[in-house]
Amino acid sequence: MKCPYCNLEMEKGFIQCRDGVYWTPKKQWVSALSSMAKGAVAICVDDKLMPKSRAEAYHCEKCKTVIIPYGESSEK
Ligand SMILES: [Zn+2]
Repeated sequence: MKCPYCNLEMEKGFIQCRDGVYWTPKKQWVSALSSMAKGAVAICVDDKLMPKSRAEAYHCEKCKTVIIPYGESSEK
């Protein structure tokens, strides 16, 4: 994946959290319950090895930016 800011190739990696990886519109007081937050979006991969604890992410060192595609077509 190319970085949308500088157009250099981004490094593929992972964001991981034991309690799942979710985007939420508001800050959660208890981050472990973020999956129950109103408007929560699961950005995690639901695989057999580590259910909902991992999301693929792309990193640009130059722009200090991480991009997390999610859903069925997240594999780039
Ligand atoms: Zn960049």
